Amino acid sequence: MSAFAQMADMGHEQVVFVRNDDVGLRAIIAIHDTTLGPGLGGTRLYPYASDDEALTDVLRLSRGMTYKAAVAGLDLGGGKAVILGDPGVKSEGLFRAFGRAIESLGGRYITAEDMNTTVDDMNIIARETSYVTGAGGAYGGAGDPSPITAWGVFHGLRACLEVRHGTPDLRGRKVAIQGIGNVGYNLAGYLHEAGAELFYADINTTNLDRATRAFGGHVVDDEAFWALDVDVLAPCAIGGVVNPDTLAMMKAPIIAGGANNVLLDESRDGRALQELGILYAPDYVINAGGLMHVHAELRSFPTEQAMDDAAGIFDTVKRILNIARDERLTTIAASNALAERRIETVARVRRYRV
Ligand code: NAD
Repeated sequence: MSAFAQMADMGHEQVVFVRNDDVGLRAIIAIHDTTLGPGLGGTRLYPYASDDEALTDVLRLSRGMTYKAAVAGLDLGGGKAVILGDPGVKSEGLFRAFGRAIESLGGRYITAEDMNTTVDDMNIIARETSYVTGAGGAYGGAGDPSPITAWGVFHGLRACLEVRHGTPDLRGRKVAIQGIGNVGYNLAGYLHEAGAELFYADINTTNLDRATRAFGGHVVDDEAFWALDVDVLAPCAIGGVVNPDTLAMMKAPIIAGGANNVLLDESRDGRALQELGILYAPDYVINAGGLMHVHAELRSFPTEQAMDDAAGIFDTVKRILNIARDERLTTIAASNALAERRIETVARVRRYRV
């Protein structure tokens, strides 16, 4: 499929190819939809096997950001960037040139960290453009978003319990977390404080030790994670973890975690969850706290505002689960519809009103 055909297929407004041989920069910036605001999304640095693979990734990721911001109720659109390269070969020149490319878009795209890019990289970008978030404090950045992401996941998880059991109370509930890194660890803290019994699976023993020391709980084998007989499975590590293999062993009635792209195939695995009666809190809805944090940074709102916004994920998840039940949709289809409705409403209002 040609680049234009892919853009048309996925609804993109603008795709920019950037090249600077002096510093070895090859990048693609994709702006999906700016109806609600500037396209915001991180920059991923990755050794893509081909230009086509990079283009497909940036188009898919930028569209995802449009939906995430729309359901989160933020005045942001969807964008994303990829730099085609070796994560082990970074330079000031590369990120400065990339920063100038962002600046040239005049604010239609705002960047942040993503896979293989760090606060230090954002600090360099910030020397060339103000359209960057997630830089260090000296550059006006607000720091690590994980605690707020976890706070949102905690509230989304409570909403699932309320829909399933009529109460969000976590006392005595068993919650298993896959991936006890930045998001998982913070989530474990909130759950522990609320009285949940915790189970952890991770490939990193240092992270497992840190969690058991702080919150007690049980370490389980990563292989056994999806078969656990618990109240909630909270994937907080990698994507693609809900698939026909894991679905075949699942006993837990709720999946609610912070990882991105939890379903390997959105429509197939979403339908399978619906048929099994397993409540699934859509990933981009429940993990939107990080984006709320970035939004607060952009608007110079205090961190408390982002915490309040993230707590609001309780109502959003509940609403989506109820729409899905009433309209017999998968939860991911229900949240996609909610996002599209918000974008259409704002577009219509803009057309007819001053
Ligand atoms: P992290 O790297 O701090 O933690 C990930 C943890 O998962 C690590 O402890 C790692 O050892 C573990 N892990 C990796 N592969 C695993 C596997 N196969 N099985 C079990 N454990 C495994 O990352 P993070 O910032 O906590 O992010 C976790 C997830 O949440 C990612 O999918 C990320 O995209 C998503 N997310 C994060 C944020 C945020 O604010 N950090 C926001 C939105 C979404």
